[in-house]
Amino acid sequence: MLTYIKKIVGDDQQRRLKKYMKQVEKINALEPEFEKLSDEELRLKTEIFKEKVQTSNSVEDVKLEAFAAVREASKRVLDMRHFDVQMIGGLVLSEGNISEMPTGEGKTLVASLTSYLQGLTGKGVHVITVNDYLAKRDREQIGQIHEFLGLRVGLNISGMSLAEKQEAYQADITYGVGNEFGFDHLRDKMVFDVKQRVQRPYHFAIIDEVDSILIDEAKTPLIIAGKTSVSKDFHSLCARIVKTFKEDVDYIFDRETKSTNLTEEGIAKVERGFGIDNMYDLEHQTLYHYMIQALRARVMFQRDVDYIVKDNKIMLVDMFTGRIMDGRTLSNGLHQALEAKEGAEVTEENKTQASITIQNYFRLYPKLSGMTGTAKTEESEFRELYGMDVIQIPTNRPIARNDYEDRIFMTPEQKYDAVTEEVKKIHATGQPILIGTTSIIQSEEVAKYLDKAGLAYELLNAKTVEQEIRLITMAGQKGQITIATNMAGRGTDIKLGEGVAELGGLYVIGTERHESRRIDNQLKGRSGRQGDPGRSQFFISIKDEMVTRFASEDLEKMEPKLVPDENGELTGKKIHEFIDRVQRVCEHSNYSVREYNLKLDNVINEQRGVIYELRDKILLSEDVVSIIEPMVMDYARHIVETHCDGEMIPEDWNIKAIADELNEVLPARMIVFKESSVSERETVENAVYPVFEEYVKQVDALKENSALQFTLKTLLLGSIDKRWILHLESMERLKEGIGLRSYSQEDPMRQYAREGLQLFEMMYHRLEKNACYHLGTMAAAEAMKFEKTGGKR
Ligand code: ADP
Repeated sequence: MLTYIKKIVGDDQQRRLKKYMKQVEKINALEPEFEKLSDEELRLKTEIFKEKVQTSNSVEDVKLEAFAAVREASKRVLDMRHFDVQMIGGLVLSEGNISEMPTGEGKTLVASLTSYLQGLTGKGVHVITVNDYLAKRDREQIGQIHEFLGLRVGLNISGMSLAEKQEAYQADITYGVGNEFGFDHLRDKMVFDVKQRVQRPYHFAIIDEVDSILIDEAKTPLIIAGKTSVSKDFHSLCARIVKTFKEDVDYIFDRETKSTNLTEEGIAKVERGFGIDNMYDLEHQTLYHYMIQALRARVMFQRDVDYIVKDNKIMLVDMFTGRIMDGRTLSNGLHQALEAKEGAEVTEENKTQASITIQNYFRLYPKLSGMTGTAKTEESEFRELYGMDVIQIPTNRPIARNDYEDRIFMTPEQKYDAVTEEVKKIHATGQPILIGTTSIIQSEEVAKYLDKAGLAYELLNAKTVEQEIRLITMAGQKGQITIATNMAGRGTDIKLGEGVAELGGLYVIGTERHESRRIDNQLKGRSGRQGDPGRSQFFISIKDEMVTRFASEDLEKMEPKLVPDENGELTGKKIHEFIDRVQRVCEHSNYSVREYNLKLDNVINEQRGVIYELRDKILLSEDVVSIIEPMVMDYARHIVETHCDGEMIPEDWNIKAIADELNEVLPARMIVFKESSVSERETVENAVYPVFEEYVKQVDALKENSALQFTLKTLLLGSIDKRWILHLESMERLKEGIGLRSYSQEDPMRQYAREGLQLFEMMYHRLEKNACYHLGTMAAAEAMKFEKTGGKR
């Protein structure tokens, strides 16, 4: 085997693989011994391992034996023996890295090894799949191995009751979809009673299709939303104004980064339309926000590509699967803007109550690992952002698929004609064909051409997951033609029907280069599983979207010099190099956008950490008064510092404001200044701090009152949630503004971080004020004798 491996991988990989191979040899050597064990004895191994893991606080010492146990259990329960290369995959996962294994290599079985090993700690392993269907399937199939060995297995899917979820999370190994885990995290951070929590502290996650989860879904954060009320007419009005706008006059649209903004001209029009002087004024923030959303709805979202209109409703389309995302809506009024644009009924807008990107959710785990067929091209991104290395695992059998060089045409029409010719020719032999497309529109385009040629096909648009999986499984049958967007039915492999291997296996046709080589490879990988024969061939045109978006100038210069044949086909090394180059540019551009967003998100992520930590402290505490006491002092200092500005002369200090603001949070008017102005800060401090110190001493007595403590806790948690929601909104507005102010000298990233911090501090002081206020009203209700302790009056 080793010689075969050497042939296909580079030196660096080889060294690592050698190490793993040695370990696999040791596992293999354990096999006869484990085969002799009775079921009962095999199960007992779990107990022995668990004890060892407990005492050494590490799974390293039992790793090889544990793998041997899983393999043996799998043989007995599922009649499947882990291949050696699957063992390597498991070892890679256990080290917190990514196993790159092509489709059909049995990644699900690979995960069984690591999930068992990490499950021995009792701290909970989360196995993440791309949809509920696969989570259920894996839980039912692979879960049998773990249950046989005596571990508890759980399934976490949406719509489960609190008790069911808690049980699922208590298990040693929990299967589910990433989004659901993320949502549970957010919901856990919103509870008022710890008993309502479902998750335990994070330990280890194995992410299947790790590239789609951490890279492709990067743009959509998880959002928990509640209702707000912005007038529906407002959206329609904005949509109407935007409709009259012209590109490059009223707005600019950057096709490369897919971002848009109003020009000065456009802003002037809005100002005239609404009869206002300056749209940048703080008071017009909301208007500005909805205008931008209306603009985005118009230029960035294309009907029947990004969304469809059905029954007077906007339904979003998943860019990768081409599937309708049921129940998913855009946030921040963008969905309403789309509704207004299409004249559909404008629904109530949702306001973000909590949100996190899936990436930042997974970064909460002390250790992550992942599996996919395609990660190598994004290796550096995984290493830099998640600290995971990508290890290419050799296939169980050599890959027998032939990947042909792209065929390149002048126009899309010529391209589709060529695809149709090819399909006709191949179909006549009975070889099954899978045609991959990049969008629903493109699928339909291809379908039209096949219709004209009188070819029968299955079109996988807008199907449910189950239908999709059923149809994609059929794609390997003799005579089948299937058209699907690139991710349709991912995770299900296509088995070849009777006699299909003899015909050359599955023939995959790509109709456009995707935004990254990785996604092209996903499509190719649908063919040639487990050493099956197969073929892949891409047909592209130099007018494809990727080229016009990223290289329109180069194209213009190049075009007159091209010499196509009578079918519009271009040949020669140069044109292939050109297409490759454009794809690299596109990959790089997407990476930059992801990196930029992640950096922006880091600002909020840090703040979220602070707030959630405070919230947890309060939630878990029996003594909230003790948490508020230091806040009281801090708030007093903050007010004094705010108003006794060192830049101003003391006579101009507004000491009345100090007294007013501080008295607001005290149970009685305890702060009084005799004079209307002071000459030194010390005078202010002497009038304030002793009073507060005395007050804090007094409220100490409230600690004994558990009913009061409980009410205070509830009030405080409520304040935190409310403040945090408002803060998220201001941060969102700030983000929008940053793009607009890019003409200023400062780096927008730094500006966002700096102003974000200011907003956060403001929010935090308001929170302190709320806390002090609640404490003050409670104290007053308890009728404590504050009158006597007024300090220096
Ligand atoms: P992947 O996710 O890598 O594409 P799957 O986990 O879906 O692959 O497995 C592909 C198929 O191969 C499944 O039907 C699975 O049961 C089967 N399989 C995986 N590993 C083995 C094995 N060691 N022995 C026999 N069949 C296996």
